[in-house]
Amino acid sequence: MLVDLEGASGVVDNDEQARPGSALYQEARDYLLSDVNAAIEGAEAGGAEEVIIFDMHYFGLNLNLAKVSSKTRVVMGKPRKIYPLLREVYKEINGFMMVGFHAMAQTEGSLLPHTYDHSIKSLRLNQVLMGEIGMEAAIAGFYGIPLVLVTGDSKGVEEARNLLGNIPTVTVKQAINQHSALCLPLAKSREEIRKKAKEGAESITRIKPFNLDPPYTIEVEFFQPVKVQKMIKLTGVEQVDDLVVRAQGEDLPLLWEKFIGFCQDYD
Ligand SMILES: [Zn+2]
Repeated sequence: MLVDLEGASGVVDNDEQARPGSALYQEARDYLLSDVNAAIEGAEAGGAEEVIIFDMHYFGLNLNLAKVSSKTRVVMGKPRKIYPLLREVYKEINGFMMVGFHAMAQTEGSLLPHTYDHSIKSLRLNQVLMGEIGMEAAIAGFYGIPLVLVTGDSKGVEEARNLLGNIPTVTVKQAINQHSALCLPLAKSREEIRKKAKEGAESITRIKPFNLDPPYTIEVEFFQPVKVQKMIKLTGVEQVDDLVVRAQGEDLPLLWEKFIGFCQDYD
């Protein structure tokens, strides 16, 4: 299960809620925990024997272990080199879920949209425009693993469905604009997530992995040319124009990890 905070129930603001240390961050963590536990419960009800969680938000320290459901293991912290572990995990699992996700950068009318790093304006994989949902689905698809649940705001869910078809989803909040949404109360989103997660776990053999053909070409457009100058220092990354770079490889998870790891280095 991949977890992010921007698409959790009730979270609408980065400065006040989503950023660790912000005034309402602790409350936002509780909202996320409620969504995550509902998804775990649903997954277990649908036959999951164990859930392994990767927390992708900021430092990867958003889940309170004391309150996470049992039959779960959680990656605490956000290792730069996640690939060796990821490869092992993807070999062990049969399906994956995305809880608390959001639309890609530049999505009109969406809530807290971004594509991994805030410097990224758009991301194309094999010429298909996608955000975090698409990229993570493609990485799992590389290992033959289907995405069986997406929860998030209305625009994030819409993006998932446009790309992946009729998979189980839960809209926990209707995006109004970048910083506001019409939200379900926790009790209601918990109920919905539990139901859809169960359906997702039960549909593991029915839902097809999102599998793109190699070689994999990643094309990223940045908001600032300075980022391009940085990225082309990475072996295998070529400049397309002032704002766009491209990289190609046969192993998508490895390629993406190298790219995004370098991209997110703070400077
Ligand atoms: Zn995100």
